[in-house]
Amino acid sequence: MLIIGNAKILSFDEDMNIFNEAAVVIEGKTIKEIGKTEKMREKYPQASFKDAKNKVVMPGLINTHTHLYSTFARGMDLKTNQPPRNFLEILEKLWWRLDETLNEEDIYYSAIYALIECIKNGVTTIFDHHASFNFIEGSLDIITDAVIESGIRANLSFEVSDRHGRKKGEAALKENERFIEKLKNSNLEKIKGLIGLHASFTLEDETLKKAADLADHLNVPLHVHVAEGIEDWQDSVQRGYIGVIDRLKKFNILRPHTLAVHGVHIQSEEIPLLKESEAYLIHNPESNMNNAVGTAPLKQLFESGILVGLGTDGYTHDMFESLKVANLLQKHELKDPQAGGNEVYRMVFVNNKKIASELLGINVGMLKEGFPADLIIVDYFPPTPIEKDNIYSHILFGMNGGMVSTVMVDGKILMDNKEVTILDYERIKRRTIQQARNFWERF
Ligand SMILES: [Zn+2]
Repeated sequence: MLIIGNAKILSFDEDMNIFNEAAVVIEGKTIKEIGKTEKMREKYPQASFKDAKNKVVMPGLINTHTHLYSTFARGMDLKTNQPPRNFLEILEKLWWRLDETLNEEDIYYSAIYALIECIKNGVTTIFDHHASFNFIEGSLDIITDAVIESGIRANLSFEVSDRHGRKKGEAALKENERFIEKLKNSNLEKIKGLIGLHASFTLEDETLKKAADLADHLNVPLHVHVAEGIEDWQDSVQRGYIGVIDRLKKFNILRPHTLAVHGVHIQSEEIPLLKESEAYLIHNPESNMNNAVGTAPLKQLFESGILVGLGTDGYTHDMFESLKVANLLQKHELKDPQAGGNEVYRMVFVNNKKIASELLGINVGMLKEGFPADLIIVDYFPPTPIEKDNIYSHILFGMNGGMVSTVMVDGKILMDNKEVTILDYERIKRRTIQQARNFWERF
């Protein structure tokens, strides 16, 4: 049993309770009680004690869309005289070449290194969307190994695409099926799967049909990029649809709990279709800005009642950073100082929690008796009071991923006082540097 005490606890429970001079008592994987530090120490004298004086304790953050395979792209020379001029060229010259170069070891070291970055930034649950078209079968097992070592919660999928030929598209679909079937017979509580699809414009009708059939058969929703670049929308129009939502809905890809990622080029008449499908939309502001594709119509999506979550698309592993940019982007885009605030808060602290709890089958994102002990300690001690109604403002203007000092998932400490405790970080770092050099030579 462990008591983390003397802290300011932001519970993010239904009433947004804040506890001062408080302690959270952890027994095994679960939060046993939250109360005044002295009282908790008296009540549980046998428990060990961790002092969190002048620090904030809050739930671990959730990232509802990322790509662990993107690790080696950072700083990489694209070896081309003509840098990409649009989104499609970014995909062709960087990402699709990268995912065809990844081998078994690249997949593992990309994943484990990115997972450590998640931990360092206080992210305790992720939704990964993987691609490695020269190493398809078994790739999700390699990522599973890395996720198990890291100790965090993850939902994994392989992004099926016909862009490298139908045969590889078929193999990618099989990998999702194999992996999800395998999970059903395993006792891996912290790992779940979805059926991943790259995007409508790289998927033929036949593949969409097979993916929908598989989703029916396995009773598992999908994870798909939707209308990210204008190219995706143009492709659907050429095929005779209003847009991407229209096409994916007709193929029954958009269904309850499916992650529809981006939605930048959603047509206004498609918003009711998306709402009707009960799919979630995942917003990734930094990635959208970096690819210069535009931004999702957040205001309209929220007004229509669509559940919108926040991800990073692998651009960063820091969810504090993603929420800051999401807020700025809306204000900038709409030239309205009131824009963004409420939506961003809901995406990160309400909707991501709902999405993760639904798709991982466990209640996360809240510090409350009986809930899993997924929490972070943040070195944040502001001169101004933290109250129920200004928590978001403190997070937005005061916190960042680098302030996270301790991370716990399922009652297990993964990082303590900024030291990753769960695995041999120095060895992994050295080995990943080696692997990255080797990868760059092959790219
Ligand atoms: Zn993505």
